Amino acid sequence: MNLYTVCRSCKESNNLKFEAITRPDLQMQIGSEFDFKCAKCGNSEKVHINDVSAEPNKKIMRIGLIIGIVLAIFLFYFYGAIAMVSIIIPFLFWQVEIQSIRSFNGYMIRRK
Ligand SMILES: [Zn+2]
Repeated sequence: MNLYTVCRSCKESNNLKFEAITRPDLQMQIGSEFDFKCAKCGNSEKVHINDVSAEPNKKIMRIGLIIGIVLAIFLFYFYGAIAMVSIIIPFLFWQVEIQSIRSFNGYMIRRK
C-alpha cells in the first residue's frame, strides 16, 4: 500500500516515502509529526500522522494480476479448467491489501 497526505494549502495528495504497515508503526519510525513539503505547490508544514492515509499500491495490484493470469494460462495447459482457480490469486492479494489499508486508516493516534 501507499501512504499519502493531502496538502492543506493546495489540497493535492502527495505520496509519502514511509514504509509502515500500521499507524503506530509509522509513529515509531517518525514520531507524531513530521516535516512535509508539498511537491505540487512547495508549501512546507508540520503534518500529524493522523493526517496520513493509506491507499492501494497500484503497482503491486498489477503484478498480482499478471502473476494470476500467467499462472492460470500456464496451469490450464497442464491441468485444464481446474487451473482457472488460480485466477483468484490477484483477489487474495487485493484482500490482504484492503485489510491492511482499512486497519491503517481506521486506527488513529491520540493527539496531545
Ligand atoms: Zn500543496
